[in-house]
Amino acid sequence: MSGSIVLFGPPGAGKGTQAGRITVLTGKPWVSTGDMLRAAVAAGSELGTEAKGYMDAGLLVPDGIIIGLIVERLQHDDASSGVLLDGYPRTIPQAEALSEVAVVSAVISIEVSDDAIVERIVGRRMDPETGGIYHVSFNPPPPEVSGRLIQREDDNEQTVRNRLSAYHEQTAPLAEWYAQMGLLISINGNASIDEVGMAIEEALSGAL
Ligand code: ADP
Ligand code: ADP
Repeated sequence: MSGSIVLFGPPGAGKGTQAGRITVLTGKPWVSTGDMLRAAVAAGSELGTEAKGYMDAGLLVPDGIIIGLIVERLQHDDASSGVLLDGYPRTIPQAEALSEVAVVSAVISIEVSDDAIVERIVGRRMDPETGGIYHVSFNPPPPEVSGRLIQREDDNEQTVRNRLSAYHEQTAPLAEWYAQMGLLISINGNASIDEVGMAIEEALSGAL
């Protein structure tokens, strides 16, 4: 498949968890705007400092900041045959900006109910060394890594509620936008990690 693939869905739907499998299947590099923003925050850059307040509050970072970041990333050599976008676009203006610099071949929408989202986010733990994503109950870490796992600052119940509101108000309308273009592939995310991965592989191999 030439062009980029968009991984779409509410926060905590399992986009990052499935991204590794899709990059192996397609060879496309994984581009996560959340990871790029967290790297900017950790580096203390001007962009990171500006983004942090929004991220901590569970609000979307303004389009102007995020569009600049992604347009720059898509100019790198490894993006020439398309990338796997995780967490972008999240607004219609972001999707419009994307369509000017890249061809989107498929949008995989992982659909998960709000109650399950809160449980997934509150139990999420990250491995700062490998980027591995775990869950205290649904994907427990092996004992040798459990000591170094961290919980993201925004992975608490209050912030999650704000992130879900932002998702429903600003991001969910994009599903219809992409459906009208014939690009949306809906995947039931209320299933095990493996089942979701297999459903995505099946849908993509039909589209590849
Ligand atoms: P996103 O990238 O969409 O924000 P993640 O991939 O980080 O979501 O997953 C959020 C949390 O839910 C993680 O703790 C992950 O281990 C867990 N998770 C992911 N997929 C599933 C699933 N199908 N069933 C149960 N838990 C899952
Ligand atoms: P999750 O999938 O768990 O919501 P992400 O790591 O994708 O988390 O994003 C974390 C935060 O970074 C978001 O709550 C938001 O503040 C910001 N962010 C990431 N991607 C975007 C984007 N495309 N547009 C606006 N804000 C973004």
